[in-house]
Amino acid sequence: MNLILFGPPFVGKGTQAKNLYAEFKLPQISTGDILRKAVREGSEMGKLAGPLMAAGSYVPDEIVIGIVEERLREPDAANGFVLDGFPRTIAQAEALERMLAKLGKKLDAVVSLKVPHEKLIERGSGRRSCPACGSVYHVYQNPPKRAGYCDKDGTGLVQRDDDKADVIEKRLKKYDAETAALEPFYAQKGLLRTIDGVGSPEGVYADIKKALGKA
Ligand code: AMP
Repeated sequence: MNLILFGPPFVGKGTQAKNLYAEFKLPQISTGDILRKAVREGSEMGKLAGPLMAAGSYVPDEIVIGIVEERLREPDAANGFVLDGFPRTIAQAEALERMLAKLGKKLDAVVSLKVPHEKLIERGSGRRSCPACGSVYHVYQNPPKRAGYCDKDGTGLVQRDDDKADVIEKRLKKYDAETAALEPFYAQKGLLRTIDGVGSPEGVYADIKKALGKA
C-alpha cells in the first residue's frame, strides 16, 4: 500500500502512521520528523528550516520534495509507505505524482483525518516532545511514565516552539489556507478516504483499516 495520511496538525497522523508500520511494516515518511532531525543535527538544511518551522511557516517546496524523493528510493519503501505531512501544497502533490511515475509506483489511497478546530488546539497545547529522540507525548492523553521525562531516554520533555499557542493558531490557519485545497485534488482522483479522527486512537485505526479494505 502506498498511502498519504492527510489532515491538519494534531489530528493524529503520526500515531496512525506508527500503527500502520506496526501492522503492515509500511515505513512512515514524515517530512516534519526528517526536518526536526536535521535541525537537531545542525545541518545546512536544518539551519534553513529551523526558523521557518518555529514560526509555523512552511519549508520551501523544493526542499521537502527533495527529502521525499530521496526517502522513497530507500529499499524499505519498495513495498509501500505512509506519507505523513507531505504533500502540503499543490506543487508538492504534483511533484509527488511525477516522482511516483518515475519510480513506477502509484498512490492507493489518501486517508484524510477530521477533528474539529477546538479539539486540535486542545491536543496541540498539551503536546510535549523529547528534544533528544523526538518522541511525542501528551500531558493528559498520552503522558510519559515519569511526568516530564522521556520514557525512552529519560531526557526532560519540552514544548516545541511550534506547539506554543500562537504558533498552533498560525499552523492551523496555514493548513486551512493552503493544504486543505489538496482534498478536492485527491477526491477528484477517487483516492480520498475521509475518517472521523475524534475518539480513541484504536477506534480511529480500526476505521482506517476498514476504509482501506484491510479490516
Ligand atoms: P509536522 O510535524 O508535519 O507538523 O511538520 C512540522 C513543520 O515542518 C511544519 O509546520 C513545517 O514548518 C515543516 N514541514 C513539514 N512538512 C512540510 C511540507 N510538506 N511542506 C512544507 N513544510 C513542511
